[in-house]
Amino acid sequence: EQPLTAFLEKAAADFPNREAIHFMGKRIRYRELLSDVYRMAHALKEIGVQKGERVSIMLANCPQAVISYYAVLLLGGVVVQTNPMYKERELEHQLKDSKTETIICLDLVYNQVAKVKDKTSLKRVIVTGIQDYLPFPKNVLYSLKLKKDGMNVTVPNQPGHYSFSRILKKALAAPVASQVSSMDEVALLQYTGGTTGSAKGAMLTHRNTIVNVIQSSSWVYHGKYGGEKVLGLVPFFHVYGMTVVMNYGIYMAATLILLPKFDVESVLKMITKEKPTLFPGAPTMYVALINHPQIAKYDLSSIEACISGSAPLPLVVQEKFEELTGGRLVEGYGLTETSPVTHANPIWEKRKNGSIGVPWPDTECRIIDPSTGKEQPQGEAGVLQVRGPQVMKGYWNMEAETKKVIQDGWLNTGDIATMDEDGYFYILDREKDVIIAGGFNIYPREVEEVLYDHPDIQEAAIIGVPDSYRGETVKAFVVCKPGRKISEEELNQYCREKLASFKAPRIYEFREELPKSSVGKVLRRVLAEEARKNEG
Ligand code: ATP
Repeated sequence: EQPLTAFLEKAAADFPNREAIHFMGKRIRYRELLSDVYRMAHALKEIGVQKGERVSIMLANCPQAVISYYAVLLLGGVVVQTNPMYKERELEHQLKDSKTETIICLDLVYNQVAKVKDKTSLKRVIVTGIQDYLPFPKNVLYSLKLKKDGMNVTVPNQPGHYSFSRILKKALAAPVASQVSSMDEVALLQYTGGTTGSAKGAMLTHRNTIVNVIQSSSWVYHGKYGGEKVLGLVPFFHVYGMTVVMNYGIYMAATLILLPKFDVESVLKMITKEKPTLFPGAPTMYVALINHPQIAKYDLSSIEACISGSAPLPLVVQEKFEELTGGRLVEGYGLTETSPVTHANPIWEKRKNGSIGVPWPDTECRIIDPSTGKEQPQGEAGVLQVRGPQVMKGYWNMEAETKKVIQDGWLNTGDIATMDEDGYFYILDREKDVIIAGGFNIYPREVEEVLYDHPDIQEAAIIGVPDSYRGETVKAFVVCKPGRKISEEELNQYCREKLASFKAPRIYEFREELPKSSVGKVLRRVLAEEARKNEG
């Protein structure tokens, strides 16, 4: 077993001149990437970063994100993945909780960092700009719709403040030996998405990070070493983008095609021009692409394989996307706590639509009746538990929380699932999101699937809202496709034709868009909070 950084060293030795990263016109070869990682590791050491120390990376998908991540791991540091969209409150919580001393951030978010710096244990702030790696002048960046605010923040001339490009340029490129002495050491604090509430730091070890990459390669893709191009749209600060795009891509000596921001038109142009072969994404990304009015203008035929994770993939979306690309799109499943993937449909072998597929190699699964704690007979619904080498060490500084979710190595996923007679798993929904109306259990996902099937609907989300008679009742949030409209009566009639009446939504709300997480997961929790506020 070797740490992740060994994969990068191998890729650079095998394919020194192959493009490791393509970033909006800038191309970085594997040997250049490795030498920048060595430089950054030297630079971080020079400014005082120690083994075991937490280093926050608060960047969009850009070359600096890859360089910083691998440099910190090489030094035996712990990467704290920080979402650049975080507001002051969330950032302060994460930095304090993790006791982070160093942060590498985008100039666009520097002002946020500056506001919380003195309230946390931060000692060093390293600032970089998207433009640091680009050959373009600033006006081109503005036209790419990147936010203007804070662009080109000059690094304050104060102790503890550094410019990424300056320290990188000054540092040695000599190889740095990995400081990781055991694969059980913590490599990452990966804060949970927060879809359902408080953010906790999942401790992922070096073993966790490499295992899931190897499982991905053996199970899903069977990709060609040194011959793939991966589209990097899912953010690398999220566990999904980190493992399935960045780390898997480097393990395969692939070219990572990065875009710092999801913008439908730029993505379509990028696919047509750069011809990626793999496109790991989230359902909402595929939804946005297939609904683009001029989709037929673009050539998506290079795409061979896609894995969709983070949320359920509506069947219609899967079919339409496959028709457009000629490639295969399969659904996978995972959690932050499992580095993240535990299940997927195999791309080239038997897959089942609507299923998350089968457990990955070395991954054990069982379905438990939450009321008795006993294993359910095959076919019965219950809470899914998983055990395997990708399961986290625990939550950082939260022993009681860890004990609640991990017992004897079994991690409780909090999702309700079933398994069919062939061993394929189906997620019904999150245990926490199940709506109980008049004594009936309603899985929001099932109702959402029906809405997604409607030809005028682009997106939908279902939540339970309090109801004095039934306890809870079903509320639907609906986004229509561009230029389409549907009335509440029509929609109500449609749902009642397709669903038992207790499952059909009683309240509809039409929206322009739905709140989403960093990977594009619809945030039902935010909708529920809004509904509660409006009630109150
Ligand atoms: P938090 O745990 O803080 O509430 P989160 O659940 O969004 O946030 P993640 O670890 O990113 O954090 O998400 C894992 C969850 O995503 C799973 O437990 C499951 O509910 C959902 N999920 C992932 N993939 C799928 C899928 N293919 N189908 C259905 N649900 C999925």
